[in-house]
Amino acid sequence: MSSLLFMLVMEYLSRALQKVGELPDFKFHPMCHSTKLNHLIFADDLMLFCKGDLKSIRRKIEVLNHFSRVTGLVANLDKSNIFVAGVDDAMKEQILQLTGFTLGDLPIRYLGLPLSSKKWTKIDCHQLIDKITNRITSAYSKTLSYAGRLQIINAVLFSLYNFWSNVFILPQSILKENGGLNIKSCKLWNIASVGKLMWQIASKADTLWIRWVHGLNMKDEQDFWTHTPSKDSSWYWRRLNSIKLTMGMWYTNGTYCLLTNGAYNVSCSYNQLLGRQLKLPVADLIWNSLMLPRHRFIIWLANQEKQLTKERMIRLQMPIEDDKCCLCGESKLETQVHLFAECTWTTKVKEALETWSGIKIQKTEVTECLKWIKGRHWKQYKKEIATAIWGARIYHTWRASNWKLFRGTIVNTEITITQTKKGIVERVDYLKDSRKASKCRYLVQKFCN
Ligand SMILES: [Zn+2]
Repeated sequence: MSSLLFMLVMEYLSRALQKVGELPDFKFHPMCHSTKLNHLIFADDLMLFCKGDLKSIRRKIEVLNHFSRVTGLVANLDKSNIFVAGVDDAMKEQILQLTGFTLGDLPIRYLGLPLSSKKWTKIDCHQLIDKITNRITSAYSKTLSYAGRLQIINAVLFSLYNFWSNVFILPQSILKENGGLNIKSCKLWNIASVGKLMWQIASKADTLWIRWVHGLNMKDEQDFWTHTPSKDSSWYWRRLNSIKLTMGMWYTNGTYCLLTNGAYNVSCSYNQLLGRQLKLPVADLIWNSLMLPRHRFIIWLANQEKQLTKERMIRLQMPIEDDKCCLCGESKLETQVHLFAECTWTTKVKEALETWSGIKIQKTEVTECLKWIKGRHWKQYKKEIATAIWGARIYHTWRASNWKLFRGTIVNTEITITQTKKGIVERVDYLKDSRKASKCRYLVQKFCN
C-alpha cells in the first residue's frame, strides 16, 4: 500500500477511535482523562488506552473489528500485547479472553526506545550499552589510534547516546563524569537535553506530551517553576522537578535567557552547566591547536598521573618483570618524574630542544610544568608553542620507552630531536595564514636561525 494511502486509512481508524471516546459507556485510562487520549499511532505502531473495564475494552474491540471489515487490515496477534494494571486476577483473565491478546511485560520497545513505568536501572540501559560497546569493539575501531578512537567517541557514539538522553533521565551508574579529552560529560548533557523537555513544559509547547503532563501532573497549576510534584506522581516527574532547580538561573520572567531569541538550546545549557564545574585550569594549553592530537592524549593522561608507568603498575598490582626504567638502564624506579624529567634519554632531548627554542621549563612534574607555563607572563602563542615542544618530548619519551619494552629497540635521541623540531615547524605551517600562525612562525623562525 502506498504510504499516503496508508496514512488516509489510519486517519480513518484514528477518527473512529475518537468517536468511541464520546460514547457514554467508554471510560478513558485514568491518566489520559484530561487529554481525552485513547490511542497513539506512529506509522504502523498503534497503542490503545482505556480504563480496565470490560465495557470500555469491548468498545475498542468493536472499532478494531469495524476497521478490519472496512479495510481488510487485521491486527497481528503475534506482534500485539496487552498491558493491564490495577485490576484483580479474575478481571485480568476476562480481559485476556475478550481481546485474545497475550499479556505483555514492560519494558517494551517503541520507536527504538524502551518504555518503562519505573525508575531506570542499569539493566534497562543494557541495549544502549550493548550498542555502544559493539561499536567500540568492532574490527575497524580496533585498528584506530587513540586520537581516532576519540573521534569515534565524540562523533558516532555520542549521537547514539544523545538519541536516548533527549528523552530519558538515564541512571547515574551509566553516566561517567566529564572525562576531559573534549568528550562531553554524559551526565551534564543528559540534564541539558531533558532541559528541553522542561522548557517545553514551562512554555506550554503545543505537543501531546506537554498537554498530557499539564493535565495529569500539574492539574490547574500554571507555573512549572513553582510547581511541587505530589508524592504519588511518577518517579520521572519527580526527578524532572528536582533537576529543574539547576536551571532556574537560565530563565528570567519565565523566558529562556541564554540565547537572545528565547529558544531553548541544549549546547548553551550544557556549557552553562559545565562552566559551573571545576575546569582543568591548564586544559586550554593541552588542547591548543599546535599540539598534535596523539600528543594531547598522552599529556592529558600524564597530567592526571594516569600514564601506565611501572610504578603505577605496581600500585595497581599488575604483574611486571621488574620496576626499572628501561630507557637508561640506570636501575632507577620508572616513575613519571624519572621518565619525563630525570632519565638520561629524555634529558638529552630536553637540553637540545631548550637550546633550540630558548625556552627552559623549570619544573619536573608534568602537572607542575603545565602550571608553570600557564603562569608565565608570556603571550598566549608563546605559551602554546612552549607546551607543544614540551608535549612532543613527553610523547616521544613515552613512545621510546614502549619501543624498548615491546620491540627491544632504543629510539635514537638525535632522530627524535630532529623529528620534534620538524613537527613543530610543520604544525605552525598547518595553521596557514591566521594571525596566530604569523606570530608563531616568527617565533619559530627565530628558533631555527
Ligand atoms: Zn631512565
